[in-house]
Amino acid sequence: MNIVQPLLHLQEIDRCIRELEQEAVDIPERKAQESASIIAAQEELDAAKAKLREAQSRAAASEAEIKAMDERLQQMKEEQASLKSNADFTTFNLEIQRLTKDREKQESRQLLAMDDMVPLKTRVADAEAKVQKEKAAVDDYVAELDTRLAAVKEQLAACEAERREYLDAVPENLLVRYERIRTRRWPVVVELNADGACTGCHLVQPPSVAQDTRRNQTVVTCLTCGRLLYSE
Ligand SMILES: [Zn+2]
Repeated sequence: MNIVQPLLHLQEIDRCIRELEQEAVDIPERKAQESASIIAAQEELDAAKAKLREAQSRAAASEAEIKAMDERLQQMKEEQASLKSNADFTTFNLEIQRLTKDREKQESRQLLAMDDMVPLKTRVADAEAKVQKEKAAVDDYVAELDTRLAAVKEQLAACEAERREYLDAVPENLLVRYERIRTRRWPVVVELNADGACTGCHLVQPPSVAQDTRRNQTVVTCLTCGRLLYSE
């Protein structure tokens, strides 16, 4: 058995904890990224709705203008019937002609606004469908992520409990060295490869260090990175 075997086991537990902790951080980030795709679709929908509202209000304004002109024309025609002089009659005629032309222009504007509304309504409907589709997809994925996060938290708690229990089996002097290195390096305990190099920093160790590691009588430290070395 290897002299650092208890540390190798502890390191496996810690590896698990580190991976789970990382996943617990990543999941909320992924959720936030997912929600961003809805925001883009929602912005397109808002823009389409704003354009449609603008065309609708143009059409409504023209309609109101036309209605006012119709009332004015009607009124003028009634007044014209009671006019005495030819001059007044002609003036009225000119005014009626002018109003009628203005009315035609306003009508063209109304038609233009209504033509604009047709593609805009389609654009709004498409954007609405896209938002719904994105929302459904995101909801499904977010639900999956939530389930995964709950599982991760559960596994993490289990690993942490396992670690607490296992600590009793680790000799105090080994544990102190392990914890000290762990604050700066990961992994802490690494193999000395066949070439006599530390697999943590990849530097070849002096022959004495390699020999001590293979002899497995004392805990040996890499001269470069300070990790604990072991040899199978
Ligand atoms: Zn090293």
